This record gives sequence, C-alpha cells and structure tokens, in this order.
Amino acid sequence: MNDPFLEKHIQDVPDFPKPGIVFKDISPLLASHEARNKMTETLVAHYRDKNIDVVVGIESRGFLFGMLIANALNAKFVMIRKPGKLPGDLIEQSYQLEYGTDTIEIQQDAVNPNDRVLIHDDVLATGGTAAAAHSLLSKMDAQIIGYSFVIELDFLAGREKLPSSEIHSALHY
Ligand code: AMP
Repeated sequence: MNDPFLEKHIQDVPDFPKPGIVFKDISPLLASHEARNKMTETLVAHYRDKNIDVVVGIESRGFLFGMLIANALNAKFVMIRKPGKLPGDLIEQSYQLEYGTDTIEIQQDAVNPNDRVLIHDDVLATGGTAAAAHSLLSKMDAQIIGYSFVIELDFLAGREKLPSSEIHSALHY
C-alpha cells in the first residue's frame, strides 16, 4: 500500500504532455523538505547493505533523487543523458519507442568494470528507458545490483522488460 503522506505529494496531471496520458508530477515532492527526506529514506532502505559503488540517474528527473540516494549511500553519482549533452568519450545505447527510436549516453570512464551499480529514475512506465540503461551499463561490465523508482505504473508492466535484478518503487499506481 502506498504511504499516504508520500502519495499526497504526487500531482496527477491528466492529458499531459498528450491526450490520454496521466502525468505524475513530482514537483510537490521536491518542494517539501519532509517529503523529500522520507522519499529518499524509503528508496535508500533497500540498498543500504548492498555496497553500492555508483548510483546512475537517468535524464532528467532521475538526477533529483538519484543524487540524494547517492549521498545517503556514500556512493558516486553518474548521469545518463540524451544525445549531445555530455562531453568526452561516450558509450551509447539506442532503444525502441512506440514510434521511432531514442538514444542515451554515458561518459566512458564514469563506471568501472565490476562496479556495483544502482539504476534510478523517477517513473517506471513501459520500462524501455531503464532497460536501455541496463544494456548501456552491461556494455561497461558493471554489476547491476538493482533499480529504484519514485513511482511505478504497474498497469504498464515495465518491470517485465527489466533484466532480472531487484526492483523497488516507493509508490505504485
Ligand atoms: P518508460 O521508458 O516508458 O519506462 O518511461 C520512463 C520515462 O518517461 C521516465 O524517465 C519518466 O520520467 C517518463 N514518464 C513516463 N510516463 C510518465 C508519467 N505518466 N508521468 C511522468 N513521467 C513519465
């Protein structure tokens, strides 16, 4: 069951960014110090004893709690970004969208082989983005210990697309 206090800080926005989508706006969660802390604690609890070396946040809302989780776990924080945003030598991964494809990138030296990695994003929807992040990190020979999400949209069954690892989401819809 969802924690009512945390749930109260998620705003449903119908028909955004297009008709038929109910956008989960985490702005109220970001605005409240108490809610931010509680969310971070909830996400971190599953990984405290897992010796996580690197928390990888997915652009762009994955950077927000990703950074807080990394702080709490005394881990490194690394960004996965859309093309054209990161400088230096990069590794990229393309993935299928409903119409067309998308690509994500990471800096080549950001994750070392065998690093114990936690993948974080704000919302797990269809799972395409997080699965692509897993493929990207696998190319770097990282050990993917698990995933964490602020919100999981259960009805889209995104977790079935994710290569097996622990998956923890603070709120389910
Ligand atoms: P997916 O690849 O389908 O799992 O989509 C995940 C990405 O899309 C995440 O980075 C989310 O930020 C964003 N996203 C998808 N659906 C929603 C939604 N209903 N509300 C807010 N963000 C969403």
